[in-house]
Amino acid sequence: MLQLRPNCECCDRDLPPDSRDAMICSFECTFCADCAVGTLSGICPNCSGELVRRPVRPAAKLQGNPPSSQRVLKAEGCAPGKAA
Ligand SMILES: [Zn+2]
Ligand SMILES: [Zn+2]
Repeated sequence: MLQLRPNCECCDRDLPPDSRDAMICSFECTFCADCAVGTLSGICPNCSGELVRRPVRPAAKLQGNPPSSQRVLKAEGCAPGKAA
């Protein structure tokens, strides 16, 4: 099951479970669409993996399958086009 992390690792923007602007890699490093597409060119800065849009979990399923509340943030921010 996806963790559905609550924020962008680059800019700390809130990414609620119903956000269509959330992008993740296969390890669920989580970014907003602006950072993922703009700053990161679609590549995860942590694992060099592909970033794809995170699917929205239906609201009715969130009750029994709550999203992660643990915020993950890169202390140094995200550098444009930086390879891992
Ligand atoms: Zn961001
Ligand atoms: Zn990653």
